[in-house]
Amino acid sequence: MSVNQMEELKKESCTLACPVGISPQGYINLLKCGKIDEAYDLIWEKNPLPSVCGSICHHPCEDVCKRGTLVDSPIKIRALKRYLSENKLDDKVTSYPVIHQEEIAVIGGGPVGLTAAHVLAKRGYKVTVYEAAAEAGGMLLKGIPSFRLDKDIVRKEVKRLEESGIKFVFGAKVRPTDIEKDYDKIIVATGNSISKGLPIANSVCKGVMNALDFMTKVNSADQVTLYGNVVVIGGGSVAMDTARTALRLGADKVTVICLECGSQIPAHPWEIEETQEEGIQIISGVAPLRFEAKDNAPPHCLSNIVYTTIENLDCKTFTYDPIGEEMVLSADFAIIATGQRAEPQYITGDNIILAGDIVNDTPSVIDAMGSGHDAAIQIDKELRGREWKEYELEREMQSGDPKYRIYPAVRLKKAFPEIRKIKDRSGFDMVEQLMSDEEALLETWRCLECGYREVDIEKCIGCGVCMRVCPKGDVITMVPVEEQGGNK
Ligand SMILES: Cc1cc2nc3c(=O)[nH]c(=O)nc-3n(C[C@H](O)[C@H](O)[C@H](O)COP(=O)(O)OP(=O)(O)OC[C@H]3O[C@@H](n4cnc5c(N)ncnc54)[C@H](O)[C@@H]3O)c2cc1C
Repeated sequence: MSVNQMEELKKESCTLACPVGISPQGYINLLKCGKIDEAYDLIWEKNPLPSVCGSICHHPCEDVCKRGTLVDSPIKIRALKRYLSENKLDDKVTSYPVIHQEEIAVIGGGPVGLTAAHVLAKRGYKVTVYEAAAEAGGMLLKGIPSFRLDKDIVRKEVKRLEESGIKFVFGAKVRPTDIEKDYDKIIVATGNSISKGLPIANSVCKGVMNALDFMTKVNSADQVTLYGNVVVIGGGSVAMDTARTALRLGADKVTVICLECGSQIPAHPWEIEETQEEGIQIISGVAPLRFEAKDNAPPHCLSNIVYTTIENLDCKTFTYDPIGEEMVLSADFAIIATGQRAEPQYITGDNIILAGDIVNDTPSVIDAMGSGHDAAIQIDKELRGREWKEYELEREMQSGDPKYRIYPAVRLKKAFPEIRKIKDRSGFDMVEQLMSDEEALLETWRCLECGYREVDIEKCIGCGVCMRVCPKGDVITMVPVEEQGGNK
């Protein structure tokens, strides 16, 4: 590794990579010391959906984990978060005291709305979440299949937020103009609820549907039966989840076709791997040309998808050159998973902030939550007249002398257990299994303790090692600065 590459590595850390700014190194160290409650609290302080993220976050923290870059494979941060938080779901939550007179409304109870509401409630604001559906959770309940995210987990984490003092109004589809006179600030976090569709011939054939409608039906326990050949069109996470769901609903054969090839495919590598593991074929670098019906008269049941190979794909505009011959895939059902978009937008005003999928280019739970967190901080900043730098301080990283880092853990090259998965994938049980106590503890020992959060560089780098190594035992405890009378 070159000096330049090493210098670049010094700028990366799990903490900086997390859009909501939680510190994996902190809670992994606390878990290593057996301080499970403190470890959980450190996560919950900034992330009100730890079990959700422990199940389905795309873990940008692991992408920059130096254990992965320098030694063997990244620490399983997501799985550790799930281990830590699933045991705490039923613990009682203390309500945050209201200390400010301003009232905030959040429209949309998905991950963004829930995160923003939590940040604001924690900072002492009275917050009301308006949710169009009968319960909060957004795509966590409607979109993501339960073999990847247990719905009970979502419901329990939402309940914890209700207990923390956030008010929810369900079945309330509102516009900012309906409620603006009652609130000082409004966050709009209404997500992307419309499938983009596919402008090719015969899209109205019986058997052609869009992924969001399909997943919403499946998740609402509506009877959905598939059979024969199912073709899913799209190469993103939604396409992979849809294909795996179709297989579980009775399809004999599921095929995914997508424009992109290799590393261009937008789904994460592990999603592609799991999809293929389940026997689903992915045909990449091809474009659908038209749907063909079995008959000329209604109901025009789908029989084939005609497609061709392509080149010169522009992944931003989705333009490409078709090359090669027409090919045919037999299909009883086609599910279009070519992206989602928001409902036409509301007018923005000084007191209205948009957040989450409706404004993010990268639809993912943790990026959406990061956006909700930032929207809430923006409101606090405006209402309390604070400077950005007061908030930014928390996210700075200060590299220490390398000779004091990359330590004993490097030498600890044991055979560490992989995440266990269930064998029978025919149903909707969670595929990934929870880590055992032994596996979780062993995994914490792999942390190199290199990505720390600055507290006071002269005195403390916030890594938590002192707590573990102190010969006097349990005398050192990390406490947030505010408890010491600071202003962060
Ligand atoms: C099938 C599928 C699988 C996915 N898998 C993953 C994954 O594995 N990992 C990952 O990180 N991300 C995944 N995502 C993406 C992730 O779910 C979204 O990025 C995230 O949910 C966006 O959060 P949000 O709060 O912006 O929007 P949403 O989750 O869509 O929530 C918006 C909420 O606003 C409500 N609402 C809308 N309009 C109004 C209104 N006018 N008034 C009141 N309420 C309103 C909606 O009912 C909804 O509850 C997946 C998405 C889908 C569809």
